[in-house]
Amino acid sequence: MAQFWILTQHATELGPKSLQLLGMHALSGCDTTSYLYGKGKTRALNTLLSGNFPGLANAMGEIDITPDDLMNAVNPFITALYNQVPGTTSMESARFKLFTKKKSPKIMALPPTSANLLQHALRAHLQVMLWKAADQQAPPTESANITHFGWEFQDGVPIPVVAAGDPGPPELVDVIKCQCRAEGKKCSTVSCSCHKEHLTCTSYCNCCGEEGCYNPYSKRVTTQEADQEIEEVDEQDYEDVEGVEDIEEQDYEDVEGVEDIEEQDEEDEDDFETEYFS
Ligand SMILES: [Zn+2]
Ligand SMILES: [Zn+2]
Ligand SMILES: [Zn+2]
Repeated sequence: MAQFWILTQHATELGPKSLQLLGMHALSGCDTTSYLYGKGKTRALNTLLSGNFPGLANAMGEIDITPDDLMNAVNPFITALYNQVPGTTSMESARFKLFTKKKSPKIMALPPTSANLLQHALRAHLQVMLWKAADQQAPPTESANITHFGWEFQDGVPIPVVAAGDPGPPELVDVIKCQCRAEGKKCSTVSCSCHKEHLTCTSYCNCCGEEGCYNPYSKRVTTQEADQEIEEVDEQDYEDVEGVEDIEEQDYEDVEGVEDIEEQDEEDEDDFETEYFS
């Protein structure tokens, strides 16, 4: 179902921040850019309304900014989209935090790696550059070579660049899947990386964690359980779309963090006293 936004109303609400709408729109998906899985326009607009992201206006679309400047400009907005403290979290640590949450999201619902965010940000940056030049006779010459902005050509067709590199630390990637092949006794010894770490084999493994896998730690998931898991993940996505409440929770957690630090300080003082007076 199509949804329409009354931009004049939002622009009035946003005041000078309305200039950040261009960057927000390109980063959250438009005709020429993709969107981040599970993070739709509503979430993006709510994030913009509840924070301030000057980089979306004063860095994105500017001709002479460096890739580092661009990443510094988009990071606060992207991290806020994923309920992380804006601008203080790297994409990798945001991925780790969300992956290790009690109810971890689907792999594709994790934030992009920095390398892939850069490619996405470059495409959004190019789009904002073109929008900013809408009142000029011609777009800036720099925008003509789209291979400088996260695109490559395959058989003459522009394709978004996907950054190479590991999706996670090698230690983690290694232990979540094994490559066991031995027929009849797959995963039965510690040469199976799952078995060795006392982890269950999964569908990522060569054995698929199914019949024929002799890893004693393998948990067989019944179809019914698998269906239930999928339902739970779907619900989670639904929660993510609502979003704003999550941000409030995060803020609350942050306040708790401050208490933790204070407590820690008190403990440190106790130690100091003990040492001093003993
Ligand atoms: Zn194995
Ligand atoms: Zn395995
Ligand atoms: Zn196995």
